[in-house]
Amino acid sequence: MENIRCGSCRALLFRAGRGAISGTIEIKCRRCGTLNALRPPEPKPERRERPDQGSANCGSISR
Ligand SMILES: [Zn+2]
Repeated sequence: MENIRCGSCRALLFRAGRGAISGTIEIKCRRCGTLNALRPPEPKPERRERPDQGSANCGSISR
């Protein structure tokens, strides 16, 4: 679990598990009223796909 705190007064806003945040979240702090915009902890701007590795001959028996 990760503690999500206010960026202004550091008050605990909520707690989120890994992967719980999939997009941008806006939450207003109840203590100071600051609107906190939160993003997922692991930014993935571009998905890196693996090149196909199935074409290479890996242990193919051709005898
Ligand atoms: Zn606050």
